[in-house]
Amino acid sequence: MPDEIEKFDITVVGAGVVGLAIAKTLLDKAPSSNPLKLLILDKNVSFGEETSSRNSEVIHAGIYYPEGSLKSQLCIRGKALLYDYARQRNIDFKAIGKLIVATQRNELAALDRIKTNASNNGVSDLKLISTQELLKMEPHVNAMGALFSPSTGIINCHQLMLQLLTDIEHKGGLFVAQTCVTSVCRHPQGFMVKTKGKAGEPYQFQTSHLINAAGLGAQTLAENIEGLSYHYTPQLHLCKGSYFGLAGKSPFQHLIYPVPDSSGAGLGIHATLDLGGQVKFGPNTRYLSSLDYQVEEESKVQFEKAIKRYYPGLDSTQLTPAFAGIRPKLQGPNDDFKDFVIQTEIEHGIPGLIQLFGIESPGLTSCLAIGEKVNSLL
Ligand SMILES: Cc1cc2nc3c(=O)[nH]c(=O)nc-3n(C[C@H](O)[C@H](O)[C@H](O)COP(=O)(O)OP(=O)(O)OC[C@H]3O[C@@H](n4cnc5c(N)ncnc54)[C@H](O)[C@@H]3O)c2cc1C
Repeated sequence: MPDEIEKFDITVVGAGVVGLAIAKTLLDKAPSSNPLKLLILDKNVSFGEETSSRNSEVIHAGIYYPEGSLKSQLCIRGKALLYDYARQRNIDFKAIGKLIVATQRNELAALDRIKTNASNNGVSDLKLISTQELLKMEPHVNAMGALFSPSTGIINCHQLMLQLLTDIEHKGGLFVAQTCVTSVCRHPQGFMVKTKGKAGEPYQFQTSHLINAAGLGAQTLAENIEGLSYHYTPQLHLCKGSYFGLAGKSPFQHLIYPVPDSSGAGLGIHATLDLGGQVKFGPNTRYLSSLDYQVEEESKVQFEKAIKRYYPGLDSTQLTPAFAGIRPKLQGPNDDFKDFVIQTEIEHGIPGLIQLFGIESPGLTSCLAIGEKVNSLL
């Protein structure tokens, strides 16, 4: 007699911060009289080893995104949920505040535009700062004016993910690492999911709902779902962001951002502090044709030039290559703004399948709000 096939209500593919936040939210929202049988899988040896551990760890305020976009809505809602969750669960965070600095006179108008955009999105606590006020806040920063965002913060993303996993397991969810989803077939009760383990050993199980939260792997997974037309899968553009660390004591008290350039690919090479008070600069933007996490020593010149615009006292000998992350962008090099994509049966016609594409920044900030959104779509 063949072994009985294991069955789950919901399977989340990808245990980055977004997959974990979705799993935790779905378990929280399920009635206790009818607990969910939920599985979360990741191909790596542990959770959150890809983009979720290669980012700035900034809780964004929701300043720049177009009004009404998912990025704007989920960032603002996610920020509130994340601060609450971090407080409740003693996850290290700090609402440190961010300064967007205009280093040239012609950038001052951009500060007004950013403030108006933020206010249209519902972020009304931004404050324009004069040069004198800025000098008091940040004596080492050179700028003609700035915009202060008090609700921007930093969070320990690893602690956040560990806590999400603890909550998932507490509610009966199951996390399995080193399990790569290789293909998905349709089934009268949902899907038959085929996986490969660490040594290539095959396994299959049944699930009623499938959530594709595979980050950089979301498009590849979509290609391997039976009956899903490739027309519904947006193209992935890999966009690397590298960081350089600054040795020694931080010259800054807040996060320092330049006015973003018009390409919209990134927010400009900014200074972020971690919870230990160390400064890192980045990320820059570089489109790639394949995954490559190496920080090129040659890009130091580009970093020095960008940093010295707002921090002329930079001692370049203190700047060393740190790490890089890769954005799973939907926006190609010459494209306009592209929003997060969260697809359901309405878009692709397959009941029980939810797919997330292009969850770049502010994905960390938005993670719990993405969880709420997915719950409302199931
Ligand atoms: C340089 C950089 C800086 C950023 N800074 C910030 C910031 O300051 N603030 C902010 O809010 N956001 C930031 N972000 C965005 C944020 O990091 C991401 O939005 C978030 O980490 C995405 O989480 P995820 O769970 O969707 O993806 P991931 O963390 O990539 O997780 C996806 C998981 O899916 C797994 N997987 C893939 N395919 C399969 C498969 N077939 N089977 C099983 N498992 C699979 C992978 O192993 C991976 O662990 C930044 C991103 C980058 C690149």
